[in-house]
Amino acid sequence: MTTAVFAVSLVGLAQTNPAKKAVKATEDATKDAADATVKTTKKAATAAADATKDAASATAKTTTKVAKDTASATEKGAKVTAEKTKDAASATAKTTTKVATATAAGTEKAAKTTAAATAKGAKATASGTEKAATATAAGTEKAAKAVVPDSERCIAKTADGDRCKRKAAEGSKYCWQHDPNKKAKS
Ligand SMILES: [Zn+2]
Repeated sequence: MTTAVFAVSLVGLAQTNPAKKAVKATEDATKDAADATVKTTKKAATAAADATKDAASATAKTTTKVAKDTASATEKGAKVTAEKTKDAASATAKTTTKVATATAAGTEKAAKTTAAATAKGAKATASGTEKAATATAAGTEKAAKAVVPDSERCIAKTADGDRCKRKAAEGSKYCWQHDPNKKAKS
């Protein structure tokens, strides 16, 4: 633009109606305000949308994490329960086996003890029987020896009227108790 054209324009502006100028300024101000409002509203809407999106994303992330944690905890719990159940079953099996072994051992021991006691009893009975037989034989022999032959017996009679069973003293027909000579002396 040349200096001459610029000068003409300034003259034109100076000749403009002040009222028209004011209307134009109001229109411009209104337009600017409307534009500013639209921009602000648009910006606010965008910010709100972004915030909602962020919140939704955060919620989704949190939900996913909670779901994963819950699944992990559940899986861990299931494993712990399974292990505990396995341990309990193993302990029960071991105890059962131990009890069965102890019972078997006890039964075997009892059988052995009974057998030993029976054998001991049988031996004792045999020993007792043998001892009794020996004693009886000895008694019989002793009894047989105790019987004094009639030729050697005292000829006196007892108070019951039976013949004295004692052996007569040597050189006498009587025993020491029934000897008449001894009696006469006393
Ligand atoms: Zn006699």
